[in-house]
Amino acid sequence: MDLGFTPEEEEFRREVRSWLNENVALSGLKGADPNLTRDKSAIEKGKAWQRRLYEAGYVALGWPREYGGQELDPVRQSIVNEEMVRAHAPGLIGASGIGMLGPTLISWGTEEQKRRYLPKILNAAEIWCQGYSEPGAGSDLAALRTRAEIVGDEFVINGQKVWTSGAHYADMMFCLVRTDPEAPKHRGISYVLIDMHFSGITVRPLIQMTGAHSFNEVFFDSVRVPRENLVGKLNEGWLVANATLFHERNMLGAAGTSQQLLNRLIALARSVRRDGHPLIQDPVFRQRLADLEIRVEAMKYHMLRQLTDQLRGRNPGIEAMVNKLVGTELNHDLSTAAMEAMGDYAMLARGEDEAMDRAFWPYEWMFSLGLVIGGGTSHIQKNIIAERGLKMPKSR
Ligand SMILES: Cc1cc2nc3c(=O)[nH]c(=O)nc-3n(C[C@H](O)[C@H](O)[C@H](O)COP(=O)(O)OP(=O)(O)OC[C@H]3O[C@@H](n4cnc5c(N)ncnc54)[C@H](O)[C@@H]3O)c2cc1C
Repeated sequence: MDLGFTPEEEEFRREVRSWLNENVALSGLKGADPNLTRDKSAIEKGKAWQRRLYEAGYVALGWPREYGGQELDPVRQSIVNEEMVRAHAPGLIGASGIGMLGPTLISWGTEEQKRRYLPKILNAAEIWCQGYSEPGAGSDLAALRTRAEIVGDEFVINGQKVWTSGAHYADMMFCLVRTDPEAPKHRGISYVLIDMHFSGITVRPLIQMTGAHSFNEVFFDSVRVPRENLVGKLNEGWLVANATLFHERNMLGAAGTSQQLLNRLIALARSVRRDGHPLIQDPVFRQRLADLEIRVEAMKYHMLRQLTDQLRGRNPGIEAMVNKLVGTELNHDLSTAAMEAMGDYAMLARGEDEAMDRAFWPYEWMFSLGLVIGGGTSHIQKNIIAERGLKMPKSR
């Protein structure tokens, strides 16, 4: 594992930092996540922010040049990610396209699909959502029932998706549909790209316990999609779907976020008093902080090890499978510690005068629980690590 950065990389970090210092405030989003809103003006600001970042050269740095990337090594991308978190920069509204569909198309798409879709993912001209989960198909995703029948040169799609993040502002969906109902369940699935403006699509909001609106139900009523929107082979979409899931899980466990949460938790423990002393002096709480800090450090080195592997051209193995499980659980444990540190004040929501730390933690605690579930629950991650990573016998 290589722990150092070269002088050029350090110089690059300084450039990114100074650019973010000047530009984050101009986004008009105050560090908010444009993915978690139904406010149209915030969504437009989110698109403008991504475009600005892209034009500065800070989006998807590793993508091939012919599709709008720069073919830079993964260290540069990880520096940008770290600096974005440090600067409290707004999240990217096109994260699903950049983090999930884009890398999938680079491996699985036709040349025409790559040229048509990838540049518009980068500059936020088209925003994507993920149509995987259904009312009867979450952890058991291959049980999905949304049906696509081939009629002439088109798929005719009927069915329902659920928990579809960003469907209320997305232009396009990468979607799993059943094209052969007679085949064993993993074999009759296809991966198609659907224009969300097509007729027959209804999007209904689902409001989360945080009060935010990020996901939706999506209904398809005889939606006609051109056959050229198929990615990979007909009925072999499960392979493509898994490529996307791999990228999603890697995206969800980022060490930089955990470090920021830990810093904020330590600041909270300094300001809260217990038995007449700052909580940070309480030996039991200090032990808990130490335990969390060890986990954050371990996550950081785990990420560095993966970066080194990528630079040496090694395929990501079991290490990458661990990211989502460990990263999302760690973030939830950090916010649980903060909620307990605040005692009764943890009940106060945003807008309450007495709320501590501007009621950041109650929101973060609920939000981080969602990320333990989204992209595959922790139980499912453990099954995958056991079966595919450690080659243990399959669970029933
Ligand atoms: C914030 C968030 C955003 C999301 N965004 C999207 C999106 O954009 N697109 C999309 O398609 N989906 C999205 N989802 C849905 C997400 O993928 C599913 O919620 C997830 O896969 C779990 O499925 P489920 O909710 O149906 O739970 P279930 O599958 O019903 O699971 C219920 C419980 O049973 C456990 N369980 C189930 N099977 C097993 C097993 N074999 N072994 C051990 N335990 C098991 C689970 O761990 C869980 O605790 C999102 C979810 C969240 C929370």
